Amino acid sequence: MYHGLARPDAVRAADRRYAVAPEAFAAQLEVLGEAGLAGWTGTEAVAQDGGGVGITFDDGCASDVLEAAPRLHAAGCGATFFVVTSWVGRPRHVSVGGLRELDAAGFELGIHSRTHAPLSTLSPAALRNEVAGAKAELEDWLGHEVAHLSCPGGRWSPAVARAAAEAGLRTVCTSDPGVVTPSGDRFRLPRQVVLRTTSPGAFAALCRGAVPWPRRARHHALRWTRDALGEHRYRRARAVLPGR
Ligand SMILES: [Zn+2]
Repeated sequence: MYHGLARPDAVRAADRRYAVAPEAFAAQLEVLGEAGLAGWTGTEAVAQDGGGVGITFDDGCASDVLEAAPRLHAAGCGATFFVVTSWVGRPRHVSVGGLRELDAAGFELGIHSRTHAPLSTLSPAALRNEVAGAKAELEDWLGHEVAHLSCPGGRWSPAVARAAAEAGLRTVCTSDPGVVTPSGDRFRLPRQVVLRTTSPGAFAALCRGAVPWPRRARHHALRWTRDALGEHRYRRARAVLPGR
C-alpha cells in the first residue's frame, strides 16, 4: 500500500511519512524483480496463490500518473489506484484525463470513497453515498464497471463490507497488516503499508509475506486507542502526534 510518491521536501510535513521517493519506489520494483516476484493489480493478487505482490496506491495523487505509472510500466508491473472521487481534478491530485490514461494503460482503478470519510463511523445513508456514489462517479468517467474499494484511514467494519457488496463491488482493502490468501475474505483484504522510511531490506521482507511485529503492535495499539477514545477524540489526538 502506497500513497503519493514524492521527495520529502516536496510534500507537507503531515504527508511526509507516507511519501515514498520516486527513486526509492523504482528501487523497490527492482527488489521485487530480483526476488522473482510479479507486481500485480488487486484483482490479479486475489486470484493467485503466491508468486507476486499486489501493488496499490491510495488517495489519487497526481504522482500516480507522473511518477508511479511510468516506473510500473518499465518494470512490467500492474497496480490498482484507489481514488477519492471528490478530490479528482484538485491541485496535486489526478485528473479525469489522468484516470483514463491509467485505465487505458491497463492499470486497475478503484474507489477510496467520495470524500475520504471514515466509513466505519457513518450512518447507512452516508455510507451508501460514499461507496455506491463514488463507484457511480468513477464508472461514469471510465465508461466501465469498477469493482474495488479501499477504506480511507483503514476504517473497516462489517457494515462497510456489506455496503460494498450491495453496491456490486467485489473486493475491499483494509490497512490491516497481513498476507492475502486465496481462502481469505475478499471484503477484508490486508495490506502492508510502504513508508518513506521503509528500507530495501524491510521491503524485501514485506514482499516475502513477513508481517513485522512492531508494525502489528502499533496497528493494534492505534485501533485500541481509537475504540477507547471514540473516533472524534482519536482524530484530534492523532493530529498532534508525529506520524499521522
Ligand atoms: Zn487515504
